[in-house]
Amino acid sequence: MDQPLHVSPGRDIRLADFDPDFHDGLDREEAEAETRLHCEKLDELAYRLFAEARRAVVVVLQGIDTSGKDGTIRMLAGGVSPQCLDVKSFKAPSAVELSHDFLWRIHAAVPPHGRIGIFNRSQYEDVVVVRVRKLVPKEVWKERYAQINAFEKLLHDGGLTFVKCFLHISRQEQRKRLEDRLRDPKKQWKLGPSDLEDRRLWDDFQKAYDDALTQCNTEHAPWAIVPADRKWYRNLVVARLVRKTLERLDPKFPPFDSSLLAKLD
Ligand code: AMP
Ligand code: MG
Repeated sequence: MDQPLHVSPGRDIRLADFDPDFHDGLDREEAEAETRLHCEKLDELAYRLFAEARRAVVVVLQGIDTSGKDGTIRMLAGGVSPQCLDVKSFKAPSAVELSHDFLWRIHAAVPPHGRIGIFNRSQYEDVVVVRVRKLVPKEVWKERYAQINAFEKLLHDGGLTFVKCFLHISRQEQRKRLEDRLRDPKKQWKLGPSDLEDRRLWDDFQKAYDDALTQCNTEHAPWAIVPADRKWYRNLVVARLVRKTLERLDPKFPPFDSSLLAKLD
Protein backbone atom coordinates (compact mmCIF):
# COMPACT_ATOMS: atom_id res chain seq x y z
CA MET A 1 0.00 0.00 0.00
CA ASP A 2 1.26 3.42 -0.91
CA GLN A 3 1.19 6.28 1.58
CA PRO A 4 1.01 9.95 0.61
CA LEU A 5 3.69 12.32 1.83
CA HIS A 6 1.50 15.38 1.39
CA VAL A 7 -2.18 16.08 2.01
CA SER A 8 -4.17 18.64 0.03
CA PRO A 9 -4.50 21.94 1.92
CA GLY A 10 -7.85 22.22 3.69
CA ARG A 11 -8.21 18.49 4.33
CA ASP A 12 -7.99 17.09 7.84
CA ILE A 13 -4.70 15.47 8.79
CA ARG A 14 -4.89 12.70 11.39
CA LEU A 15 -1.56 11.16 12.28
CA ALA A 16 -3.32 7.94 13.25
CA ASP A 17 -4.03 7.43 9.53
CA PHE A 18 -0.30 7.43 8.68
CA ASP A 19 1.90 4.38 9.26
CA PRO A 20 5.17 5.50 10.92
CA ASP A 21 6.79 2.24 9.81
CA PHE A 22 5.97 2.74 6.11
CA HIS A 23 9.09 2.13 4.00
CA ASP A 24 7.73 1.56 0.52
CA GLY A 25 9.02 -2.01 0.35
CA LEU A 26 12.63 -0.80 0.32
CA ASP A 27 15.47 -2.29 2.31
CA ARG A 28 18.14 -0.40 4.15
CA GLU A 29 20.93 -0.81 1.57
CA GLU A 30 18.77 0.40 -1.31
CA ALA A 31 17.54 3.38 0.69
CA GLU A 32 21.02 4.37 1.87
CA ALA A 33 22.42 4.15 -1.66
CA GLU A 34 19.67 6.40 -3.01
CA THR A 35 20.09 8.83 -0.11
CA ARG A 36 23.80 9.18 -0.91
CA LEU A 37 22.96 10.16 -4.48
CA HIS A 38 20.49 12.80 -3.28
CA CYS A 39 23.07 14.20 -0.85
CA GLU A 40 25.69 14.53 -3.60
CA LYS A 41 23.19 16.38 -5.76
CA LEU A 42 22.17 18.53 -2.79
CA ASP A 43 25.74 19.73 -2.40
CA GLU A 44 25.75 21.01 -5.99
CA LEU A 45 22.28 22.57 -5.73
CA ALA A 46 23.10 24.29 -2.42
CA TYR A 47 26.24 25.71 -3.97
CA ARG A 48 24.21 27.16 -6.85
CA LEU A 49 21.66 28.62 -4.43
CA PHE A 50 24.55 30.22 -2.54
CA ALA A 51 26.09 31.66 -5.74
CA GLU A 52 22.73 32.96 -6.96
CA ALA A 53 22.05 34.61 -3.55
CA ARG A 54 18.48 35.63 -4.41
CA ARG A 55 16.39 33.04 -2.62
CA ALA A 56 16.51 30.92 0.52
CA VAL A 57 15.11 27.64 1.80
CA VAL A 58 14.11 26.59 5.30
CA VAL A 59 13.77 22.95 6.24
CA VAL A 60 11.53 22.81 9.33
CA LEU A 61 11.93 19.66 11.42
CA GLN A 62 9.19 18.91 13.90
CA GLY A 63 8.36 15.76 15.80
CA ILE A 64 8.14 14.48 19.32
CA ASP A 65 11.26 13.67 21.36
CA THR A 66 13.46 10.99 19.73
CA SER A 67 11.69 11.36 16.38
CA GLY A 68 15.07 11.88 14.70
CA LYS A 69 15.49 15.62 14.20
CA ASP A 70 19.20 15.56 15.12
CA GLY A 71 19.91 12.54 12.90
CA THR A 72 18.12 14.18 9.97
CA ILE A 73 20.26 17.29 10.39
CA ARG A 74 23.43 15.17 10.43
CA MET A 75 22.32 13.53 7.19
CA LEU A 76 21.45 16.81 5.43
CA ALA A 77 24.49 18.70 6.67
CA GLY A 78 26.83 15.83 5.83
CA GLY A 79 26.41 16.43 2.12
CA VAL A 80 26.45 20.21 1.96
CA SER A 81 29.17 22.81 2.46
CA PRO A 82 28.69 24.41 5.92
CA GLN A 83 28.80 27.94 4.48
CA CYS A 84 25.58 27.21 2.59
CA LEU A 85 23.75 26.17 5.78
CA ASP A 86 22.25 27.83 8.85
CA VAL A 87 21.24 25.32 11.51
CA LYS A 88 19.12 26.65 14.34
CA SER A 89 17.67 24.77 17.33
CA PHE A 90 14.76 26.27 19.20
CA LYS A 91 14.62 25.49 22.92
CA ALA A 92 12.22 26.75 25.58
CA PRO A 93 12.23 30.54 25.08
CA SER A 94 14.52 32.74 27.17
CA ALA A 95 13.21 35.66 29.23
CA VAL A 96 14.18 38.04 26.43
CA GLU A 97 12.44 35.90 23.80
CA LEU A 98 9.32 35.72 25.97
CA SER A 99 9.22 39.49 26.17
CA HIS A 100 8.57 39.60 22.39
CA ASP A 101 5.87 38.07 20.18
CA PHE A 102 6.37 34.33 19.60
CA LEU A 103 7.57 34.78 16.01
CA TRP A 104 10.29 37.28 16.85
CA ARG A 105 13.00 34.70 17.50
CA ILE A 106 11.91 32.66 14.50
CA HIS A 107 12.09 35.62 12.11
CA ALA A 108 15.54 36.50 13.43
CA ALA A 109 16.74 32.98 12.57
CA VAL A 110 15.48 33.00 8.96
CA PRO A 111 18.50 32.55 6.68
CA PRO A 112 19.58 35.27 4.24
CA HIS A 113 19.17 34.72 0.51
CA GLY A 114 21.53 32.04 -0.72
CA ARG A 115 21.35 29.76 2.29
CA ILE A 116 19.47 26.73 3.45
CA GLY A 117 18.23 27.05 7.01
CA ILE A 118 17.48 23.97 9.05
CA PHE A 119 15.14 24.53 11.98
CA ASN A 120 15.36 21.94 14.74
CA ARG A 121 11.91 22.74 16.19
CA SER A 122 10.27 25.97 15.14
CA GLN A 123 7.22 28.24 15.40
CA TYR A 124 5.19 25.03 15.72
CA GLU A 125 6.32 24.55 19.32
CA ASP A 126 4.15 27.58 20.06
CA VAL A 127 1.00 25.70 19.04
CA VAL A 128 2.07 22.26 20.27
CA VAL A 129 4.10 22.09 23.50
CA VAL A 130 2.70 25.45 24.55
CA ARG A 131 -0.84 24.11 24.09
CA VAL A 132 -0.25 20.69 25.67
CA ARG A 133 1.56 22.12 28.67
CA LYS A 134 -0.90 25.01 28.93
CA LEU A 135 1.83 27.64 28.83
CA VAL A 136 -0.54 30.24 27.38
CA PRO A 137 -4.36 30.37 27.39
CA LYS A 138 -6.35 28.79 24.54
CA GLU A 139 -7.47 32.23 23.30
CA VAL A 140 -3.80 32.98 22.62
CA TRP A 141 -2.61 29.76 20.93
CA LYS A 142 -5.70 29.29 18.79
CA GLU A 143 -5.00 32.58 17.00
CA ARG A 144 -1.49 31.43 16.22
CA TYR A 145 -2.34 29.10 13.32
CA ALA A 146 -3.49 32.06 11.24
CA GLN A 147 -0.55 34.11 12.48
CA ILE A 148 1.89 31.38 11.43
CA ASN A 149 0.22 31.07 8.01
CA ALA A 150 0.48 34.84 7.46
CA PHE A 151 4.12 34.84 8.61
CA GLU A 152 5.01 31.96 6.29
CA LYS A 153 3.24 33.73 3.40
CA LEU A 154 5.25 36.88 4.05
CA LEU A 155 8.50 34.92 3.91
CA HIS A 156 7.36 32.92 0.89
CA ASP A 157 6.55 36.13 -1.01
CA GLY A 158 10.01 37.39 -0.11
CA GLY A 159 11.72 34.46 -1.82
CA LEU A 160 11.81 31.80 0.88
CA THR A 161 10.73 28.23 0.28
CA PHE A 162 9.61 26.13 3.24
CA VAL A 163 10.15 22.39 3.41
CA LYS A 164 8.17 21.41 6.51
CA CYS A 165 8.82 17.86 7.67
CA PHE A 166 6.90 16.17 10.43
CA LEU A 167 8.94 13.16 11.59
CA HIS A 168 6.29 10.63 12.49
CA ILE A 169 7.24 7.84 14.92
CA SER A 170 5.09 5.36 16.81
CA ARG A 171 4.68 5.21 20.56
CA GLN A 172 6.48 1.84 20.67
CA GLU A 173 9.42 3.17 18.67
CA GLN A 174 9.69 6.14 21.02
CA ARG A 175 9.83 3.74 23.96
CA LYS A 176 12.70 1.84 22.34
CA ARG A 177 14.61 5.02 21.63
CA LEU A 178 14.07 6.43 25.14
CA GLU A 179 15.20 3.14 26.65
CA ASP A 180 18.28 3.26 24.47
CA ARG A 181 19.01 6.78 25.72
CA LEU A 182 18.53 5.70 29.33
CA ARG A 183 21.09 2.90 28.96
CA ASP A 184 23.70 4.33 26.59
CA PRO A 185 26.21 6.59 28.41
CA LYS A 186 26.78 8.46 25.14
CA LYS A 187 23.10 9.27 24.84
CA GLN A 188 22.05 9.80 28.47
CA TRP A 189 22.80 13.51 28.26
CA LYS A 190 20.00 13.90 25.73
CA LEU A 191 17.39 12.77 28.22
CA GLY A 192 15.68 14.95 30.80
CA PRO A 193 12.67 14.42 33.05
CA SER A 194 10.55 16.52 30.69
CA ASP A 195 11.02 13.92 27.93
CA LEU A 196 9.45 11.24 30.10
CA GLU A 197 6.69 13.61 31.22
CA ASP A 198 5.98 14.54 27.60
CA ARG A 199 5.68 10.85 26.75
CA ARG A 200 2.87 10.53 29.27
CA LEU A 201 1.09 13.29 27.34
CA TRP A 202 1.45 11.33 24.06
CA ASP A 203 -2.21 11.56 23.06
CA ASP A 204 -2.35 15.29 23.75
CA PHE A 205 0.75 15.85 21.62
CA GLN A 206 -0.68 13.78 18.75
CA LYS A 207 -3.90 15.79 18.89
CA ALA A 208 -2.03 19.10 19.00
CA TYR A 209 0.05 17.98 16.01
CA ASP A 210 -3.07 16.88 14.09
CA ASP A 211 -4.42 20.41 14.48
CA ALA A 212 -1.15 22.19 13.69
CA LEU A 213 -0.58 20.06 10.58
CA THR A 214 -4.16 20.53 9.40
CA GLN A 215 -4.39 24.27 10.09
CA CYS A 216 -0.98 25.20 8.69
CA ASN A 217 -0.87 22.97 5.62
CA THR A 218 -0.99 25.69 2.98
CA GLU A 219 -0.19 25.96 -0.73
CA HIS A 220 2.73 28.26 0.08
CA ALA A 221 4.11 26.08 2.91
CA PRO A 222 2.78 22.51 2.86
CA TRP A 223 3.58 19.82 5.43
CA ALA A 224 5.20 16.50 4.61
CA ILE A 225 4.36 13.61 6.93
CA VAL A 226 7.59 11.61 7.00
CA PRO A 227 7.39 7.99 8.20
CA ALA A 228 10.25 7.93 10.70
CA ASP A 229 10.26 4.61 12.58
CA ARG A 230 13.09 3.51 10.25
CA LYS A 231 15.85 6.08 10.31
CA TRP A 232 17.14 5.14 6.85
CA TYR A 233 13.70 5.58 5.29
CA ARG A 234 13.22 8.91 7.05
CA ASN A 235 16.58 10.10 5.71
CA LEU A 236 15.68 9.00 2.21
CA VAL A 237 12.35 10.81 2.24
CA VAL A 238 13.80 14.07 3.57
CA ALA A 239 16.81 13.97 1.21
CA ARG A 240 14.54 13.37 -1.77
CA LEU A 241 12.20 16.15 -0.74
CA VAL A 242 14.91 18.75 -0.22
CA ARG A 243 16.59 17.78 -3.50
CA LYS A 244 13.28 18.02 -5.37
CA THR A 245 12.56 21.41 -3.84
CA LEU A 246 15.96 22.78 -4.87
CA GLU A 247 15.62 21.31 -8.35
CA ARG A 248 12.29 23.06 -8.72
CA LEU A 249 13.92 26.35 -7.69
CA ASP A 250 16.71 25.63 -10.18
CA PRO A 251 19.16 28.24 -8.84
CA LYS A 252 21.40 29.82 -11.46
CA PHE A 253 24.96 31.10 -11.28
CA PRO A 254 24.91 34.89 -11.75
CA PRO A 255 25.83 36.09 -15.26
CA PHE A 256 29.55 36.35 -15.88
CA ASP A 257 31.06 39.71 -16.75
CA SER A 258 33.32 38.69 -19.62
CA SER A 259 35.15 42.04 -19.58
CA LEU A 260 36.96 40.62 -16.53
CA LEU A 261 38.87 38.30 -18.83
CA ALA A 262 40.73 41.23 -20.34
CA LYS A 263 41.65 42.61 -16.93
CA LEU A 264 43.85 39.75 -15.75
CA ASP A 265 47.42 40.92 -16.24
P1 AMP B 1 15.49 19.40 22.74
O1 AMP B 1 14.98 19.58 21.34
O2 AMP B 1 15.47 17.99 23.20
O3 AMP B 1 16.78 20.08 22.98
O4 AMP B 1 14.45 20.10 23.72
C1 AMP B 1 14.03 21.41 23.55
C2 AMP B 1 12.85 21.62 24.44
O5 AMP B 1 12.43 22.96 24.29
C3 AMP B 1 11.67 20.73 24.08
O6 AMP B 1 11.13 20.12 25.21
C4 AMP B 1 10.68 21.72 23.47
O7 AMP B 1 9.34 21.34 23.63
C5 AMP B 1 11.03 22.99 24.21
N1 AMP B 1 10.59 24.18 23.47
C6 AMP B 1 10.96 24.57 22.25
N2 AMP B 1 10.27 25.68 21.87
C7 AMP B 1 9.45 25.98 22.90
C8 AMP B 1 8.49 27.01 23.11
N3 AMP B 1 8.25 27.94 22.20
N4 AMP B 1 7.85 27.02 24.29
C9 AMP B 1 8.09 26.07 25.21
N5 AMP B 1 8.98 25.07 25.08
C10 AMP B 1 9.65 25.02 23.92
MG1 MG C 1 14.71 16.36 23.93
